[in-house]
Amino acid sequence: MQIFEQIKPLKAHLLEIKRNKKTIGFVPTMGALHKGHLALVRKSVEENDTTVCSIYINPTQFNNKEDFEKYPKSIKNDIRLLQESECDVTFIPDNTTMYPESSLIQMNFGSLSAELEGRYRPGHFSGVGLIVTKLFNIVNPDNAYFGQKDLQQCLIIKQLVKDLFFDINVKCVPTVREDNGLAMSSRNKRLSGEAREKAADIYKLLKVAKGRLLSDKQVEHVKNFVEEYLIEAEDIDLEYFEVVRLPGFEIVKKIEEKGSYALCIAAHVNGVRLIDNVILKEVNAD
Ligand code: AMP
Repeated sequence: MQIFEQIKPLKAHLLEIKRNKKTIGFVPTMGALHKGHLALVRKSVEENDTTVCSIYINPTQFNNKEDFEKYPKSIKNDIRLLQESECDVTFIPDNTTMYPESSLIQMNFGSLSAELEGRYRPGHFSGVGLIVTKLFNIVNPDNAYFGQKDLQQCLIIKQLVKDLFFDINVKCVPTVREDNGLAMSSRNKRLSGEAREKAADIYKLLKVAKGRLLSDKQVEHVKNFVEEYLIEAEDIDLEYFEVVRLPGFEIVKKIEEKGSYALCIAAHVNGVRLIDNVILKEVNAD
């Protein structure tokens, strides 16, 4: 596996690959890699001649200083995991490489970023849009892989690619979970063993909520159920629970028979912010 820290040599290397008519798959990450990231890498390795993974903790997408400062780092282990996953190229730039001067661009994704993560993390998607655009321009991949765990991000990146005429297929890969159901996340490293068990309730609750929504159809009832459950449960502080229509990400009050929806949640466990979602595909009448 080749490791690059600078843009120019990486671009030259990838240009050669393109000249040889080989396809490039790209997996952008912030490191502290786990099996969720590696599922994206594996998919890219399967579907492309060359896989590029980037590891960069992008400061402009953090709206919370403490979250940024405490973000886990394990670069040596990350490199080992990527080598084992047959990743071909890793790009590990620093801040002066990615932001030689502070960027003035602000990105706004309109209704796609108005709610949920966009509302509770102001500026987050502007930072995501900016860094992903920079990375797409550097790597110029054929396919790019993102996780369903960050569902709103997946849809925003699809929109970005469409609006800016990037010739890239954006693929959304299903969420990889711990045995207890907890969605894998780099931030889980900040949870104690006990907190990880408690955090698994988030996914259990989402599954129960999905079942209730399928039979009841009234979002309000399901929201009340989730909120009441979490008032009882100690150590899980709910930030939001919403049902959104896909792919527009509008909050809905009722689900229709035809249509696709997602139940999305953000909660804090022991001071660590976690998000998760489940998708309701076609909703058929009983
Ligand atoms: P991050 O390093 O958290 O920015 O994540 C990099 C990519 O990995 C994003 O596209 C995430 O959605 C994806 N990802 C993170 N956790 C998971 C998971 N548990 N399952 C699948 N994909 C994930």
